[in-house]
Order: sequence, then structure tokens, then C-alpha cells
Amino acid sequence: MKSLDRHAQDKLKDLQRRHLRRTLTESLREDGLWIERDGKRLLSFSCNDYLNLTQHPAIKQAAIDAIEKYGVGSGASRLVTGNHPLYAQLEVRLARIKQTEAAVVFGSGYLANAGIIPVVIGRKGLVLVDELSHACLFAGAELSRGKVLAFRHNDVAEARKLLARHRSSHDHALIVTDGVFSMDGDLAPLADLLAVADEHDAWLMSDDAHGLGVVGDGRGSSFVGNTHIPLPLQMGTLSKAVGSYGGYLCASGPVVDLIRNRARTLIYSTGLPPACVAAAIAALDLIEREQDYAATPLRKAKMFTRRVGLAEAQSPIVPVIIGDEEATLAASRMLVEEGYFAAAIRPPSVPAGTARLRLTFTAKHSDQTIERLADIVRDKIMKH
Ligand SMILES: *Cc1c(COP(=O)(O)O)cnc(C)c1O
Repeated sequence: MKSLDRHAQDKLKDLQRRHLRRTLTESLREDGLWIERDGKRLLSFSCNDYLNLTQHPAIKQAAIDAIEKYGVGSGASRLVTGNHPLYAQLEVRLARIKQTEAAVVFGSGYLANAGIIPVVIGRKGLVLVDELSHACLFAGAELSRGKVLAFRHNDVAEARKLLARHRSSHDHALIVTDGVFSMDGDLAPLADLLAVADEHDAWLMSDDAHGLGVVGDGRGSSFVGNTHIPLPLQMGTLSKAVGSYGGYLCASGPVVDLIRNRARTLIYSTGLPPACVAAAIAALDLIEREQDYAATPLRKAKMFTRRVGLAEAQSPIVPVIIGDEEATLAASRMLVEEGYFAAAIRPPSVPAGTARLRLTFTAKHSDQTIERLADIVRDKIMKH
């Protein structure tokens, strides 16, 4: 056997032994709610399609129209000839929703984080990252080649302590955090983090991948509770509640202009397919227009947590933490027998010992279904 193949097989065996081996399962999504996997039709509680917009007829039509008009691909980087006319419309909407001067759209949320952080922070800089932040915030922070420090989850006092100790030996400092935590569903203390950042001449960026469209009247986590926290850097994705694909940054005019000039993942990557941009525009129009619809997934999640007796949901994401990897896989299999799909999330996506079912609620889940799922989780999973 070739040494590379042997290397791969050894690594895979090790993953298997630790119950961490992953496989791709073909998942046929019909309507934003049901999926077909391994020949079984299951009701999904594992899609980030919170508003079921991936299958919305008007949004699909907007994408089809864009293909007819502009073609399938964008043909080049946005900086060359890939900047088709739909981009400007999308960026105007994003800036309006987030109440910033400007916005810039990237190929994905991951590409946005990998591009933004190294522009803002260089070798002599400091990046503080909430320990439960998404992997691509850590990836972007590492790409900056500055000093990267993690602070305990939502621990504002520790972030302050780290800034007090390290800020003076760095030219610039940036705090980054998920706005809505992707595996826990809780919210970051953005107002307090902003105050700490201001105290130490540091900047704050939130990753609102799971906030836009579903919390704060659909505007995201910096708008929760009838306040507006004026974050200097707000990034997110167009692939979750918005139902399409792409990433974005909302910020001031000068910051967005600098990003357009310097972000390598924007400059050296092809522009999005026009259909993705058109779909995102149509979805944001709907989110701005139908705030009650945007509030529905969180309402459903709260209905679930109340019935199970878990801490009240702060977003449409609800973790049912089991701890052990094998037991989590068994719980996920048991739910499949009941007709539900809830993915088992294991390390390294979550810290060791906190394997969980990560449930996501969408606008179209019926109340009866949620009640039945809650009863199963309470009686057959939590009691064991
Ligand atoms: C999904 C996700 C991303 C990545 O966004 P993509 O557009 O899917 O690349 C970034 N941050 C968080 C918190 C996410 O959940």
C-alpha cells in the first residue's frame, strides 16, 4: 500500500475507535422540512433553514430569473468582471438591515471570516476569541498571524482581564464572538463586550450566522430586546435563515472599502453565482416585510424548551446535551425510529464530554410535532 493511503487509513481507524468517524449521507430535502435519508422519510430538526426559505416559490423564481438573465456563474473575481449588478442591491439591503454605512458580500461565511480578520489584525495584533465561537473565527484569527487568545464562554470579566494584560504589547486588538452560538443557541453579551472593547481601544466583531432573520426582529443579535448595539464589525452568512449562499460584512464605509481592497478571500475567489445573490435579495425583502414570520422559529423553540423543562431558548437552536458520544449517536438513532432527524454533534465540533443532539426549529414545524418530540426527548432521552 502507498504510504499516503496507509496514513489516511490509520487516521480513519483512530477516528472510528473514538466514535468520531463521520460519513456523508445523501439527504434529499423536499420542502424545507422533510428529508429523505437511507430510504427513510424523516422530519428534520437539523437544518439551519429556519424560515424554510430554501424552498420558497418566490425566492426560487428570483434565482431562476437571475440565471436566465445573467447566466450560471459569475465568471471571475468580483474585482475583475464577476461583480454582476445584483451585488450592489444585496449590499444596500444588508447595510440597511444592520444599520451600517456599508456592506460587502463574500463567497461564504467561512471565507468572510478567513478574509476579514487578517485585514483588520496583523502580526503585531491581538485577537480574543470566545472559546465556543465557530471554527472559522479561529481559522481567521490564526490567519492574521497575530496573538490569538481564547476567553471562557461569555465571560466578559476574563476578556477584560486579558485585554488589561496584553493590549499594550499589541498595535491593535479585536474581540470576536458568535452573536448566537451555533452549537448552544445562546446569545453573546454584546453590549458588555462592546463596553470592554471600548475601554481598551479594541474592536468587536460578531458572527451573526444564526441571528440574521430569526432574532431581533430579523435584524440579528445586535438588535435583541428593543436596543441596537452599534457593533463596528458584523459578519454573517446568507446560507442559514436567508436560505441561499454567501457571506457578508456590515461596517462603516472606510472599513468596507479597506476589506474590498485587501481581503484575500474576496480578491482571489470567484464571485457568487448570480442566482445565489438574487435569492438572498428576495429572502431579505421577505424578512424585512414579515417580522412576525421571522419571529416564529424562536417561538417554536421556546415551546419545546418549556415542555421539556430546559432553560428557555434564546434562538431557534436548542442543544440537548448528553455528553457521551456513543449515547448521543444512540439517541439520534432512536429519534430516527420515531420519524425525526436530529444530528448527533460530537467533538471537535463541540468540547469533549458535551456531545449533544442539536435541534433547530423552523417556522413550519407544527406545534403538535414539537410537542411529540418534546415528550420523547423528556421521557426517553433526558431520563436516562
Ligand atoms: C455556518 C457558520 C459559518 C459559516 O458560514 P458559511 O456561509 O456556511 O460558510 C460561520 N459562522 C458561524 C457561527 C456559522 O454557524
